Amino acid sequence: MDTRQKELMHFAQTAKGLDNPAKLKLILLAAGAKPATFFALKITPDNLGEKTHLERHLRENGLSFIAGKARAYEEITGMVGNAVRWTIKGSWYGYDVFADKAHALLFKKYLALLSRQKHEQADRVAGKLYAYPACCVEHYVREHNLAFLRKNYTHYSYYKHLHDRERAFPFLQHTTCSTTCAKSKKLNAQHAAAARKHAQKFFKDFSAVKRFSAEVAVDSESVLPQDVVYGIRSTAPVFPVKDGHEYSLLTLKQLRGHYYLLAHLTKAAYARGTVLPAKITMRYNYADAAFGKPRRVIKNLHHERHFVLP
Ligand SMILES: [Zn+2]
Repeated sequence: MDTRQKELMHFAQTAKGLDNPAKLKLILLAAGAKPATFFALKITPDNLGEKTHLERHLRENGLSFIAGKARAYEEITGMVGNAVRWTIKGSWYGYDVFADKAHALLFKKYLALLSRQKHEQADRVAGKLYAYPACCVEHYVREHNLAFLRKNYTHYSYYKHLHDRERAFPFLQHTTCSTTCAKSKKLNAQHAAAARKHAQKFFKDFSAVKRFSAEVAVDSESVLPQDVVYGIRSTAPVFPVKDGHEYSLLTLKQLRGHYYLLAHLTKAAYARGTVLPAKITMRYNYADAAFGKPRRVIKNLHHERHFVLP
């Protein structure tokens, strides 16, 4: 690894504007373990220079990139009664970064296919662009088919497979075809080895098991993207029977300086606003929670924010 690569690696590990998923993606690209990636850089009054700084390192390493427009972002800053308050903290920029010209061109092809609504072809090009295993790309394409989903999953088992894959392959960014996919196992091990070798500080923090005790409030429940507008389209939901729930859990105190919304999959049903004592285990990009007995219910729990979508 030459000096310029080492400097980019140092930036990736120490930049205040990169969260752990963004750090990992930039580290893997800088190490040559990924040919293309997308991540977000957040800019606040504390790190105004990081946009120029990042772009200088990318150019010095001969990496081509597309920087998105500035968009505002907000974070939870506390609760007032039954309202979760969000505050605008700064702006964020999306970065598409490519190891070489061929991958930058593949990205253009991907965008062109998307704009022509050719989703299957676009997914296959994206698979090549980001070097995802072919078995996983084909599985991903098959899962767009509602009949395939209904035949192979229930509401609960569909979310379960997503949770299981995230836990089986913490260094991968794609949805793998299974938790036993041999190509994904190999890729995950390669990515972990690259991060361990070139970004020890990040690797140590990312893979450490972090334990917290905190009250959580059960917040909203996940809805499949295909079902978001099913009432309007007057079609049936993907899974008519709900045999489980994926809830957002809101931590009622800050953990590592932030309030969190954690995805929690359970067969039990909880009313929105139910407050539970929880033992939370965080590792990589996921968190697991074990509950004690419910303590109270925050009636009409809701969010007060500036906007929902970027
Ligand atoms: Zn696979």
